[in-house]
Amino acid sequence: MPLSMDTLVSLCKRRGFIFQSSEIYGGTGSCWDYGPLGVELKNNIKRVWWRDFVQGRADMVGLDASILMHAAVWKASGHVDHFTDPMVDCRECRRRFRADTVDETPWVHYCAATKGNKFTIPAGEPCSHCGLRRTLCPDCGKGELTLPRQFNLMFRTFMGPVEEAAAVTYLRPETAQGIFVNFDNVLQSTRRKLPFGVAQIGKAFRNEITPGNFIFRTREFEQMEIEYFVNPRDSVAGRPADEHWHERWIEDCLGWFQRYGLQAENLRLREHEKAELAHYAKRTADIEYRFPIGWSELMGIANRTDFDLKQHAKWSGKTLTYFDEERKEHVVPYVIEPSAGVDRALLAFLVDAYREEEVRGETRVVLRLHPELAPIKIAVLPLLKKREEIVRTCHAIRDELAPRWPAAYDDTAAIGRLYRRQDEVGTPFCVTVDVQTVGDSDKGEAGDGQATIRDRDSMQQIRVPIGALTPVFARLLGGEPWGSVADRFGAPRPAASG
Ligand SMILES: [Zn+2]
Ligand SMILES: [Zn+2]
Repeated sequence: MPLSMDTLVSLCKRRGFIFQSSEIYGGTGSCWDYGPLGVELKNNIKRVWWRDFVQGRADMVGLDASILMHAAVWKASGHVDHFTDPMVDCRECRRRFRADTVDETPWVHYCAATKGNKFTIPAGEPCSHCGLRRTLCPDCGKGELTLPRQFNLMFRTFMGPVEEAAAVTYLRPETAQGIFVNFDNVLQSTRRKLPFGVAQIGKAFRNEITPGNFIFRTREFEQMEIEYFVNPRDSVAGRPADEHWHERWIEDCLGWFQRYGLQAENLRLREHEKAELAHYAKRTADIEYRFPIGWSELMGIANRTDFDLKQHAKWSGKTLTYFDEERKEHVVPYVIEPSAGVDRALLAFLVDAYREEEVRGETRVVLRLHPELAPIKIAVLPLLKKREEIVRTCHAIRDELAPRWPAAYDDTAAIGRLYRRQDEVGTPFCVTVDVQTVGDSDKGEAGDGQATIRDRDSMQQIRVPIGALTPVFARLLGGEPWGSVADRFGAPRPAASG
């Protein structure tokens, strides 16, 4: 059965990944808080993205620009004038609708042909009694709608203590502009040659009229954006450099999502139609993911040409060009923009990792998260919590592993339950300590000093000496497959106790 969004929302709340914001006050529309496991997962996504796309590449640098920027930035970028949706308001109930989608919901109708009886009529259809189409508010069925008005999606605020027009500024609706306005600073301070890119991870804010679908569309969200500057005069492999690099970035981004667990059949590329393209964009492709709500945008990769740098040069009066040493001329770079949402990526990774499996007649819920993304890497579990020696050994093992890998200790249930709980939050490995490990001093039996490692995905178990746990986990969490590590370092155990 396909995973429903409700199932995921409930798992996220129950296990501490994601909570509704301000829940004790009834919640706020479309805001979500990341709980103890959610913040780890989110940080891991950002960390591997930064490592792979910034630190791991010779042609990339990072930036962390301020959320509040000069108001002129948003004039130059076009956001003040064009980042709008046409809205209509109900004069009666005051509800607000996007003018272009108001006919896409069922509508309430008090029908004069049936003594004013109330009907709810499917979206876009006329009343079957009187034949009329919707003209009033679809929600209350009584109020007239205003003419469409442009509603800006930026959050407006005031800088400083005086709420006056001169102090108006905005919470940034995208991180990209922070990179464009720093283009020359980065160029001068790093002495980069084209092509090179600047990456940024940070919060952005959009006052969406219809947010929803859990963390898919929210008013406050986090972006991972890259602006990759290329010389439009250059050509690579017989193609203009901007087109070559656009293609490369699409491949790199698709490859990245697959590397961390998204299956190829759940990913596809969608080219923007000519009519859909921003007027300055040469080409835009979306990577779409098969979310529980259907195929939807996971990230976009746009060729924004030289539009942004030219706009900021015009509005700021500063020169934002690159000196091409070979051709002895100044050039305004083109920019390729791979832009991903952290929250949306997190949702996709959760959806793709979620499995319900039959194990000996019971259903096991398991998140097959990539070990690099998993919030907890190792759980240390006592087989018997009454045995002081076992508990003490568990704590010692956890303390030994924790500085290198997020490790948890749990003794609040029997071992079977403890394993299931770790499966459900995606912990790749468990370590258990039992009587065999520590021995029985009352009977004068010595322990063998070995602990059991259990693999989340295969549920196989091996026994290794406690002293070998750190080097074994260095291999397992360094990417070596379970099978090869198990063969070389472990004495196999049957999976029956798992
Ligand atoms: Zn109304
Ligand atoms: Zn009617």
